[in-house]
Amino acid sequence: MSGLTTAGRVGAVWMDGALVDPAAAHLPVLSFGLHNAACVFEGIRSFGGRPFALSAHVNRLRTSAEAIGIALPWDSTAIADAIETAVAAADFAEAYIRPVVWRGDEVIGIDPTGTTVHLAIAVLAWPKQALDDGKPLRLGLSRWTRPTPTMAPVQAKTSANYLVGSLALAEARAGGFDDALLLDHTGGIAETTGSNIFLVRRGELVTPPAHTFLNGITRQTVLRLAARSGIVTREIRLTPNDLVIADEVFVTGTAVGVRSVGWFRDTAFRADGILTRMLANAYIQLVGTEQGEESPCTASA
Ligand code: PMP
Repeated sequence: MSGLTTAGRVGAVWMDGALVDPAAAHLPVLSFGLHNAACVFEGIRSFGGRPFALSAHVNRLRTSAEAIGIALPWDSTAIADAIETAVAAADFAEAYIRPVVWRGDEVIGIDPTGTTVHLAIAVLAWPKQALDDGKPLRLGLSRWTRPTPTMAPVQAKTSANYLVGSLALAEARAGGFDDALLLDHTGGIAETTGSNIFLVRRGELVTPPAHTFLNGITRQTVLRLAARSGIVTREIRLTPNDLVIADEVFVTGTAVGVRSVGWFRDTAFRADGILTRMLANAYIQLVGTEQGEESPCTASA
């Protein structure tokens, strides 16, 4: 999946307490967050000016920050209010919201003591269809693996965890794939570079347990939507062999929603199978109507 180009797309930036001119929203070159990856972020979408699953994303921002030793100096209500302020200022029908937390430039070195904590929220216009040409994805297999839980805070949305994802995506693209599947340290299926993966076999929905990768908010929503529709769901360890014999495969994420996978390496799947289509439609309906907040289909990550 391509990145979202930023030129001409940023409608508002809130930074450390107030809306600022997006063109002036810079950070110092010696920012500790830049050099030492002391940085966490979120990706949220808004529909009709309302951010989907806002409290779940704010909770995950907080737990991600805590996982790297950052206590946010704003409570969750203040962060949610700031996000809504920025979304209202941008006034886009559909937007991508990027809250980001990082340590400041007071110290250079490894010990973060003495650094300040910063929060910025950028709101970008969401491009209609531009990130999704509707075609089933082609997934390659990355030579990179997700780290073990003792090597990195694997369930936190830290910038550090995205380095390997960027390398894997570039490699997949060079090989003619849309995205890459990453395994965990045991050889089990983990996730793609920016989404969680599901497969359908014999009418059941199966996905690996989120022990070594991001427990996506879309993943949790889809599991609940499926259970609510009477579909049997299982969270079990899976290997690439399980993928090869699956009836349907799809990925989930804030940016992609529910997206069909048509190929894993040389193996073709039935694209847009029955369950994939059903869950994709249920998800679209949910984000367009209930907005997720009060819905039983979203939970804090
Ligand atoms: N895994 C990775 C590595 C991701 O970047 C994302 C996107 N945030 C996901 C999974 C899916 O998470 P969510 O559904 O919360 O967007």
